[in-house]
Amino acid sequence: MKFLYADTQDYVDPTYDFINDRHTPGREPYWGDQYAHELMEPTPYDGLLISMSGVRQASGIPASKVHYSDAEQQRMLRDGIRKFLRLNKPKFAKHMLMGDCGAFAYVNHEKPAFPPEEVVEFYADAGFTHGVSPDHIIFDCDESNPTRSEVDASIVQRYDVTLENAEEFLRLARLEGLPFEPMGAVQGWSPKSLVQAAKSLEEMGYKYLAIGGLVPLKVDVIHRILKQLREVIKPETKIHLLGFAKADHIQNFTDYGITSFDSTSPLIKAFKDEKNNYFLANDRGGLDYYTAIRIPQAMQNTRLMQGIKRGIFSAEDIQRKEQKALDALRLYDLGRCTSIATLEAVMDYHRFLILGDDKSSHNHEKILDQTRGRVFRTIEETPWKRCNCDICKTVGVEVIIFRSSNRNRRRGFHNLGVYHKHLQSTLGRAK
Ligand SMILES: [Zn+2]
Repeated sequence: MKFLYADTQDYVDPTYDFINDRHTPGREPYWGDQYAHELMEPTPYDGLLISMSGVRQASGIPASKVHYSDAEQQRMLRDGIRKFLRLNKPKFAKHMLMGDCGAFAYVNHEKPAFPPEEVVEFYADAGFTHGVSPDHIIFDCDESNPTRSEVDASIVQRYDVTLENAEEFLRLARLEGLPFEPMGAVQGWSPKSLVQAAKSLEEMGYKYLAIGGLVPLKVDVIHRILKQLREVIKPETKIHLLGFAKADHIQNFTDYGITSFDSTSPLIKAFKDEKNNYFLANDRGGLDYYTAIRIPQAMQNTRLMQGIKRGIFSAEDIQRKEQKALDALRLYDLGRCTSIATLEAVMDYHRFLILGDDKSSHNHEKILDQTRGRVFRTIEETPWKRCNCDICKTVGVEVIIFRSSNRNRRRGFHNLGVYHKHLQSTLGRAK
């Protein structure tokens, strides 16, 4: 089973100055920064998924969804996606480069943002290895299996347009001589309609299906859908799970002949999850999760700035505590500060973060207590010292500090590496 990471231009400054929190002088992000696959060996994923809506502006869709500039889009089409993402070394030859339309970007629109001919041309010009037909997301999966006439007309329309697009997309891709492997997007309003859609795509000639709309579903519902799907489609038909947010559970999905899935969750959790920011394999064949140690840059933190404005504390005081917390943690890493003293320095700064947030004013003490326990576990167990990935080996204790994108994203890269290894060993055991 291949793990694809859904790219959102995730790269870091390889010579970032952690002590002074400064970028490399004269840095040019695209040229100087590095992707996880340039910094880490082995590569922490089996390929990348790039969404067309993240690259190309469609009419009527808000521009904020697009990550890439016009110049970058042109370079991507001119040089090819592999070279553009610097995934063109021989060791990456087997890495998948999968394109989809990024249907979330136009989910509220009546029709998909890109017509099949534009999508085929885009995938072919950029040199993708795999391309998903242009779909339209259906969110509600009703397990009671209502019929076509029982669901909203707009849902049926989304279902129909996804299949019509798929048929036209495949016809055009064949006319072009199949420059990439076409994948049929499966959408449906119920398990039954999903299975029916998969069957229709197979009949059109698709050999690889991409199942969408799973993001909001509970794990047991996904199990039931995949079970029914597998009973109906051919055993050799390959399955990809689009945007599989429940990456922690993927090892429980080995029975359905899933060829690939994509997820951003190991990286995103590094800075979006409340508690589980740093992954580490344990000796029971599972993953342990640690909370990162939040020492944000005082003068760039909105909560702290609010607290200063409201006169709860002074800017000087805050910056002193911020520096003390950083110093303590770095000294602790060198064995020159005790875990208790480190915890106190970190929590002394952390208190301000929580006090600055007036929304939670009624239970400050409770939040502080809970945080304290999690932070102490991270300090005591020093997970960053037990990881020998290229990120942790290079930046050491900085990886566990929740502070600026250069640390947070590196922690995300580390998570991708740990996750990928965990997946491979789990799958190896399942064989
Ligand atoms: Zn690591």
